[in-house]
Amino acid sequence: MLANSSIQSVQTGFETLNLINPIRKVLREEKYALPTPIQEQAIPHLVKGRDLLGCAQTGTGKTAAFALPILQWLEQNQEVVGPKGVRSLILAPTRELAVQIGESFRVYGRHLRIKQAVIYGGVRPALQIRALSRGVDVLVATPGRLLDLLNQRQLRLDKVGVLVLDEADRMLDMGFLPDIKKICSAIPSSRQTMLFSATLPSEIVKLSRNFLSDPVKVTVNPPSSTVDKIEQKVLFVDREKKSDLLESILGEDQSLYRVLIFTRTKHGADRVAKRLIKIKISTEAIHGNKSQPARLKALDKFRSGRVRVLVATDIASRGLDVDGITHVINYDLPKETESYVHRIGRTARAGMEGVALSFCDEGEKTYLRRIEAEIGRPLDVDREHPFHDESIASKKSGARKPNSKSFSNGKSRGRGSRGRSAARSEGQNKSFSFSRNRSPGKPVNGKKNIRNKRVS
Ligand code: AMP
Repeated sequence: MLANSSIQSVQTGFETLNLINPIRKVLREEKYALPTPIQEQAIPHLVKGRDLLGCAQTGTGKTAAFALPILQWLEQNQEVVGPKGVRSLILAPTRELAVQIGESFRVYGRHLRIKQAVIYGGVRPALQIRALSRGVDVLVATPGRLLDLLNQRQLRLDKVGVLVLDEADRMLDMGFLPDIKKICSAIPSSRQTMLFSATLPSEIVKLSRNFLSDPVKVTVNPPSSTVDKIEQKVLFVDREKKSDLLESILGEDQSLYRVLIFTRTKHGADRVAKRLIKIKISTEAIHGNKSQPARLKALDKFRSGRVRVLVATDIASRGLDVDGITHVINYDLPKETESYVHRIGRTARAGMEGVALSFCDEGEKTYLRRIEAEIGRPLDVDREHPFHDESIASKKSGARKPNSKSFSNGKSRGRGSRGRSAARSEGQNKSFSFSRNRSPGKPVNGKKNIRNKRVS
């Protein structure tokens, strides 16, 4: 049975978490004043060697929640694993996430003597094989490449003491389950295992029973509440007018400072990027047809602020951690409601605020309805906006009747509710701004502004 962590999220300092000095030093240098709730709840159990089932999204500080105890364990249990050996293994669904986790280990472990490697598909394996040849303390990997190299006997998993399955729901969606089972069977069962997932559908809970032994369960920010910090808006617009709308917003409103735009297709991403570049808005595109080096380069430019806009397919919707994204724009609404939650979760990260703006054409109203049902409330809409198309908004097919009770049960509505947008549409507020009421990028909860902190 799962033991439910009863530790409250009353924030105490890192000093209560029994971390060793070289790690505490990094936390001071990184100016992490307080552990995040997932860190506060998970670390005390993890340093004692417990298995963990964590329900948390990227952006909650989950990487440090597993990386710090792993680094501490590695330091306190020095062992030579020998050629091709691995002491701790972190599995992640995408290359981008694997690289990001590797970078976090580099930062958090910089005062320790840690050998690490990151391996993923889409690039030649020679350098990865070389990095593994003398054995590593930390290996971050995507399952497919890991299994390839395991089959080629380029690495051994018989010395793995800690296993992390990060974004387990995503790995499941991507069909990695058979690979994960094979990988796990090559790892000693005496290992410590941590499984993190943004959501805990029954398949994940079932899966966790195969891999975890008497885990502590820690849940922070279930999807519907993670989105609360994000101001979410929708504009009903004719499909043909979406690019004009985008240009007008980006051209006129400089508070859209670091903007991530999602399209449904790779072709669509290229088209939007091309158009923005044409009107001199610095833009990169990232999607599955781009080579891995090109994707990393584009991300790096966006992360460092050399480009203002990144246009992406859902490849970037999960796990991507770029500090200070002020706005997420859903140029196309996603078919899967979960993708919506993941996409908009790229903003308002690490204590910041953010705006998520969705363009909805007639064909996308069904997606919108499902999204609203998922997040439990309707999105804010401005009928006064010059691009707003009332004929799309009020068409029966979408069933977005003003003052509909379907999502609110008639109870008072929160921020961003239909009540407020109805008031606006009655002329109380004529201008529709895509900036937040508060200045974008402003830290909340007294956290430091960590924009541009990561080095790629
Ligand atoms: P993650 O969810 O692990 O991707 O972390 C999201 C962001 O939060 C990263 O940029 C981390 O550097 C940052 N972060 C993690 N833990 C803390 C903390 N305790 N205080 C401030 N920032 C943090």
